[in-house]
Amino acid sequence: MSRPIEKPELSLGDMPAEEFRRHGHELIDWIADYFEHIDELPVLSQIEPGDLKAQLPAAPPEHGEPMQDILADVDRLIVPALTHWSHPSFFAYFATSTSAPGIFGELLSAAFDVKSMLWRTSPASTELEEVTLDWLRQMMGLDPGMTGFIYDTASVSSMHAIAAAREGVEMRIREEGMSGRNDLPLLRVYASEQAHSSIEKGIITLGLGQRSLRKIEVDDEFRMIPEALADAIAEDKSNGMLPFCIVATVGTTSTSSIDPVAEIVPIGEAHAMWLHVDAAYGGSAAIVPEMRHILDGCHRADSLVLNPHKWLFTPFDCSVLFCRHLDLLRRAFSLVPEYLRTPEQEKVRSGSDYGVQLGRRFRALKLWMIIRYFGHEGLVARIREHCRLAQLFAGWVEASPDWELMAPTPFALVCFRACPKGSANGESVSEQTERLNALNEAVMQAVNAGGRAFLSHTKLNDKLTLRLSIGNIRTTEKHVTQVWELLNEELKKDAG
Ligand code: PLP
Repeated sequence: MSRPIEKPELSLGDMPAEEFRRHGHELIDWIADYFEHIDELPVLSQIEPGDLKAQLPAAPPEHGEPMQDILADVDRLIVPALTHWSHPSFFAYFATSTSAPGIFGELLSAAFDVKSMLWRTSPASTELEEVTLDWLRQMMGLDPGMTGFIYDTASVSSMHAIAAAREGVEMRIREEGMSGRNDLPLLRVYASEQAHSSIEKGIITLGLGQRSLRKIEVDDEFRMIPEALADAIAEDKSNGMLPFCIVATVGTTSTSSIDPVAEIVPIGEAHAMWLHVDAAYGGSAAIVPEMRHILDGCHRADSLVLNPHKWLFTPFDCSVLFCRHLDLLRRAFSLVPEYLRTPEQEKVRSGSDYGVQLGRRFRALKLWMIIRYFGHEGLVARIREHCRLAQLFAGWVEASPDWELMAPTPFALVCFRACPKGSANGESVSEQTERLNALNEAVMQAVNAGGRAFLSHTKLNDKLTLRLSIGNIRTTEKHVTQVWELLNEELKKDAG
């Protein structure tokens, strides 16, 4: 016989309301101070690997601790171990930032804690998502045939798009899988050599196998070459393969190049293939009227991903997949066991029908609050300013004898490198590349180690290229001027 469970002596339930109110106010003050003084912190965390772990107890606390002590440790331990993505001199990767309305959205979402799996478990999340994403669609000038859906990241959005495309080949892959079958040809996906690695990862995850991906050459501005794509598809078809999906990129990761979507569309259509556009970074710029052309041709794409968590001031995470064929997405993923059946299910949208997740976070709330707080014009003004700052920096690079641009600047990412004149000394091309690679690596590491700015790099045609990405809501001309001065100071030290 089991023993009766004794009533606990410890107080139960959540933090008392008064305490919550007090710490909540303190925390908002803390965040306001953090943003006000973030300029004084080193952008790149200055700790060594393992430093934080060494300062944390290896075992969990037996007894609850006062919130003051926990928050004090945030200051003492966590902040120094942060690389500050919200710092205005964060120029690495794709610079992004959160924003106050986005933080409020996250706070409320954590309080509501809804699991947006079925309409009835989260009517607000479901319907707000539909409306907010339709606003976003309109802001971007996409046609009403595109329906939006929120996932966590572009990697996951693209994987779902490829899964929907695969569902469209009508080969009963959902039911029968891909292994142990003799009746399946090799299914092919095409993306440029510059496409993000998430496309390949999505292909791996879906069990298509890496050999399903055919990478298409790019031109000297890093854009997919449509003729090479057409030739690759024709060749694969003549070899008995089944080309089913093309991924074009608007704003590639290395250089922000834009694949010629309008020229790619007819190639895909001629073979009844799905066209997915990875506009994870660049898509946000389409809300700027004079930049809408970046999505030329996308009115005939089957799906398009953009990340508000990249360039729409939305706290991570929030990725939007616009899709023309929600029916295929649903066919690929809907599975409704008895315990999830509801009377209204035929009339409403339920998030779990469109992806691998059952429960989904209430991400539409923060995006809705951001769009309302800044308005379309406020968001446009900020993106436009980032592009102006990038052009300004690119102009300095171009005018300098010591630096050169490595790619065009269609958005707010500048690709450049140091190449001080007069230091060639009759070396071969490969010797020069090696020397300049080492020089640029040293300059970048020195700037980053100083903590006043953070840049990242890529390699273009074997040449180490520095990337300056402007996307932070707090970045101003002062920060861009400062990083330019830092780069030149470090270059002088290295060249001297
Ligand atoms: N696509 C492009 C073009 C990107 O630049 C990135 C990340 O920088 C991704 C996809 C992946 O984004 P996420 O981290 O949301 O998966």
